[in-house]
Amino acid sequence: MTLSVLSVASEVFPLVKTGGLADVAGALPRALAPHGVDVTTLLPAYPGVRAKFGKLKSRHHWPDLLGTDAHLLETKLGDQRLLLLDAPALFGREGGPYIDANGRDWADNWRRFAALGKAAADVALGQVKGLSFDLLHAHDWQAALAPVYVRYAPGDAPKPSTVVTIHNIAFQGQFAASHFKALGLPAAAWSVDGVEYYGDLGFLKGGLASADAITTVSPTYAQEILRPEYGMGLEGLIAHRRGALHGILNGIDTAQWNPATDAALAMPFSRTALAKRKANKRALEKAFGLARGDGPLFVVISRLSWQKGMDMLIDSIDALVGMGARLALLGSGDAALEGAFRVAEARHKGRVAIQSRYDEPLSHLCQGGGDAIIIPSRFEPCGLTQLYGLAYACVPVVARTGGLHDTVINANAAALEAGVATGVKFDLAGADALIAALHQAVALYADRPTWRMLQRNGMAADFSWSTSGAAYAALYRGLCTRA
Ligand code: ADP
Repeated sequence: MTLSVLSVASEVFPLVKTGGLADVAGALPRALAPHGVDVTTLLPAYPGVRAKFGKLKSRHHWPDLLGTDAHLLETKLGDQRLLLLDAPALFGREGGPYIDANGRDWADNWRRFAALGKAAADVALGQVKGLSFDLLHAHDWQAALAPVYVRYAPGDAPKPSTVVTIHNIAFQGQFAASHFKALGLPAAAWSVDGVEYYGDLGFLKGGLASADAITTVSPTYAQEILRPEYGMGLEGLIAHRRGALHGILNGIDTAQWNPATDAALAMPFSRTALAKRKANKRALEKAFGLARGDGPLFVVISRLSWQKGMDMLIDSIDALVGMGARLALLGSGDAALEGAFRVAEARHKGRVAIQSRYDEPLSHLCQGGGDAIIIPSRFEPCGLTQLYGLAYACVPVVARTGGLHDTVINANAAALEAGVATGVKFDLAGADALIAALHQAVALYADRPTWRMLQRNGMAADFSWSTSGAAYAALYRGLCTRA
């Protein structure tokens, strides 16, 4: 029997993307199709998204969706159905999905994403003619009220099963309690078992308390968030719901990320033609204005943030250059961190360069032309850039946390001896630990046969969606048969 699933997210590649969530929400429908799961995706109709489609017919009209007029538009993304929540007062504005042009959160984010959750619940509950769903899958805090609205929906009609996925527990959607009234939820929802969160309104908290199942994006992160250091206030609730918690690793979209066919590369390559990567290295040097050279070229593709350990990377740059290595950094975010990278760039002209913008094709060239990718995250729910690195023979140098731990095989003596290593993994205890890992990577790079082995092992590893797609499908089926 085909299962019909409504997947709700605030960003979906290739329509709108600020991070890994978009990649995953964009890839899931195709990953699940072979397993008899038909996924419809619901996303806000931001102007940039709306512009990608012509005139669309309204499938449903809400005259008063949490105080605003809204339509549900239907179109297709590839073979799958895409629904857009067109609420101009909430989403029809220029800027990012969550922040304005000055980098400040939109003041009405609580209303914007509560409306997304309410609309998703209405659709999943069968209130739109011609659409019916067995299961509602909500991603992150922006969609997390959807299972809350399903849970508290009045009436005895059968309800869809619900799943919430935590892509990053650092973002919880916590707002003033005074907004609760405007959500249209019954008074019973304001409780420790509902959306009340330390006296505030907690979107993710409410979703975690209400969904039939909780998933997060790697097995190690699923364990980590049970502990206060990683759970960020939600560890108690998650421990309480441990029986409903699943760690399912993200896959990568091998249609988007295939070095043999990637149009963003100067020269496509494969596992048996790694020498061709040199042309990409030259193109990357040019794109960043770096001096030409055959020494190790490290890359970083990242949000510039504390989570990503970018402060420690800054403290490691002099040592990195001292090893004869170079650094190309593609990233944007925290202005102070960007400023510090600029200072390092000026100090090491031709050896360190930063491009501070969001540039999807350049991120592909970084993976295809860089020798190694540095990911010194303090925590990392799954991480995608190490997976792209593995697929593109850009050897990952990663902190031992979350999905980084689950996907990289450290080049210790045993793994090298067994011929299975794929990268360098270190315990992130500060910049010194990162510098030691960089030393190790540079030494491995100098040993050409060993480096080639790391590259080839990484490329041979399967991080496509096949395994994880099957895991999500099995979870969905278990929930739907139980219901
Ligand atoms: P997170 O979602 O926490 O930012 P992930 O590693 O899960 O981290 O996903 C980040 C995604 O965003 C990857 O697809 C990565 O290639 C991409 N990315 C990050 N920064 C940039 C950038 N400046 N330009 C292009 N792509 C970027």
